Amino acid sequence: MTLTQTLLNRFPGGLYPASVVEAGGAAYGLRRRHDGSRALAVAAPAGHPALAAFQGERQAVGDATVIEGAVDTANARALRESLPWLRPVPLGLATSAGCGDRLGLATPGHARAFRAVGGRIAAIFAQQSIREMVRTNRSPDNVLTDATFGALQAGWREPIGADADHLKTPADIDACAAAGFSFFTIDPGAHVNDAAEEMQAGALEAAAVALPWASLETSHSDFMARYAGKTIDLDDRQVLITPADAARAAVKYGRAVAHVVAMQRHLATRLKAYDLEVSVDETESPTRLGEHIIIASELKRLGAPVVSLAPRFVGRFEKGVDYIGDLDALRENLNAHAAVARAFGPYKLSLHSGSDKFSVYPLIVAATRGVAHLKTAGTSYLEALRVIAVGEPGLFREIVGLARARYDTDKLTYHISARLERVPAPEALSDDELPGLLDAFDARQALHVTFGSALARFGVEIMSALAAREEAYAAGLERHFVRHLAPFARAA
Ligand SMILES: [Zn+2]
Repeated sequence: MTLTQTLLNRFPGGLYPASVVEAGGAAYGLRRRHDGSRALAVAAPAGHPALAAFQGERQAVGDATVIEGAVDTANARALRESLPWLRPVPLGLATSAGCGDRLGLATPGHARAFRAVGGRIAAIFAQQSIREMVRTNRSPDNVLTDATFGALQAGWREPIGADADHLKTPADIDACAAAGFSFFTIDPGAHVNDAAEEMQAGALEAAAVALPWASLETSHSDFMARYAGKTIDLDDRQVLITPADAARAAVKYGRAVAHVVAMQRHLATRLKAYDLEVSVDETESPTRLGEHIIIASELKRLGAPVVSLAPRFVGRFEKGVDYIGDLDALRENLNAHAAVARAFGPYKLSLHSGSDKFSVYPLIVAATRGVAHLKTAGTSYLEALRVIAVGEPGLFREIVGLARARYDTDKLTYHISARLERVPAPEALSDDELPGLLDAFDARQALHVTFGSALARFGVEIMSALAAREEAYAAGLERHFVRHLAPFARAA
């Protein structure tokens, strides 16, 4: 009897078919129990070295040992040791997309969407910022563990990355590197000086002189000699950087560049291979072209191996809804930033708050010729709520009611413009009308930004509602993410 047969006999009808795999002389699979909970199943000849790493209930079946273990961090780690394709790896310049998953249940649906568009886009299933981990009471280990078992469940065998998003401190890097993340998004936003926008020439000059030039391994005068009054040749345009532009860029981003370099060098002491992204997308004002050039050029001079960069583009990228702004202006803006990325990298342009930006995808794919990274997160939570709106209208009404109560507080850290008076009271809607809230601008945003409150109050109910409707959630995610990924697949 093969090990796979041993496993199937031990758990008749209870293993996800796509999850079952033999590797290194052992068989693995993911079990679904009648109550909707999952367990890891492993079978190997008694005494096989791989068995030692797994925890769980052990049973002798003939010459084999079968283990049924929890879907926990220790078993996820052991699984990544035994099945190396589940180990996050650097993805380099491959066209890629990240799918943040706040509930930890979305990976099977995400995987279906990546497959449905042809499997050519590099996938990041684990992606969460430290801020969101705190809000959802998850650790880097939890996030990676959920993605690992989700990928096993889906039978995913292609390379995967794991994005430790919006990292701000060396301690953030340590936690995520130790957990096994491969893609590190450094957010130096706290070190961006937005006040530079308003400074007069004298104040700007004084602030520029006072920057920590030693940590940038240069001097104020050398910096100005590099950029002030220089015309930069890109492949499709020239960009003049005036002395005032150079001084303002130094004051606005000088400390941010120093912070990124310090973070990158810290990361390099932890990992030999990694993807490095730099995100300045959460600044007050759009990133000017000259500023992007100076940031990229300085990072290159200081040896930071940037594989992806997120400028703040023109217009508004609000959570959960399509782009708000002039698409022609955005097209030109993307073309210009993509030319900088080619000249100073090449590196990918990264589209943050990328959920539901259907009108933007063709533009960024064309501008970058596919050298792009898409980040999505909250939209997978909204798709979970859609399943609940259909299947458990009572619970969904409570979630909408809570969103209305919490919106004014929870919205504060987000750039959104939903108005509460346009979110109908859930008691006023029939059951049939509830799912429509997930297609309405104001309700989408209100539900999107109150996810932390909803999980704190209804987390158990939400998780069990989804566990009971696993196929509906995966099918909904597939349909929704095919719309996100298809434009990128055509370039990949
Ligand atoms: Zn971002």
